[in-house]
Amino acid sequence: MAKSIILFAGRPNSGKGSLEGRLLAEYPKLFELYSVGDKLREHRRMRTEIGLKAQSYMAQGIMVPDDLIVEMVLGDIAESTKVLLVDGFPRTIGQFQAMLDAKLYPDAVFLIEISEEEALTRSFNRRVCPGCGATYTIEGGFNPPKKRAGKCDKCGEELVMREDDKPEVSQKRQNVYTTDTEPAIDSALALFNGFVIDNMDGHGFERVEAALISIGVFDDETE
Ligand code: ADP
Repeated sequence: MAKSIILFAGRPNSGKGSLEGRLLAEYPKLFELYSVGDKLREHRRMRTEIGLKAQSYMAQGIMVPDDLIVEMVLGDIAESTKVLLVDGFPRTIGQFQAMLDAKLYPDAVFLIEISEEEALTRSFNRRVCPGCGATYTIEGGFNPPKKRAGKCDKCGEELVMREDDKPEVSQKRQNVYTTDTEPAIDSALALFNGFVIDNMDGHGFERVEAALISIGVFDDETE
């Protein structure tokens, strides 16, 4: 079983992926990430049974059935030896209940919080490079390309909007979060050591670090 388990939750475009990336980059010996979305994409690439079953749900932006997710997650996370950051679980009340039934009790729950309006704005303003996957914002955002407007700084390709950032899909993902995931996360926050991290200003990282210090995740030998 992992040394400790920390759930990372937040609505789509809350910035939780970037925060996790920074934690892994700055403290590589301490943290390991388990992202349910990434794991499912890996299964799809490898064409496993899980991947083939999950495919059509993911393409529509809807939840993969609970039993498939619960079996995969509970099997996978038994193996880690570091502080495990779990992204994307639980995302429904059913998954939350299954987590309790399996006696999987997280040491902390982090909710990375931004408003729905801000999440929609971030998604509307995001552009990605189809060549190398680099992410930017449009002009006027906080991270526009620096060399040529609308072109990737690294490979020069024309930037595009991600399919799931298109307004209808983006709104749907927010709605699914509000109806299905928010109740599960609220329950987890109330039952375990919960931290609500404000990330409206994009400075959530320092707040996450402070919260991790308060629960004793870092010690004197942490680099
Ligand atoms: P997003 O935050 O855009 O939903 P993710 O990478 O977290 O992106 O997830 C991609 C897709 O994988 C989701 O749209 C959903 O179909 C599926 N998925 C991820 N986590 C879960 C989960 N805990 N339960 C059910 N489906 C999930």
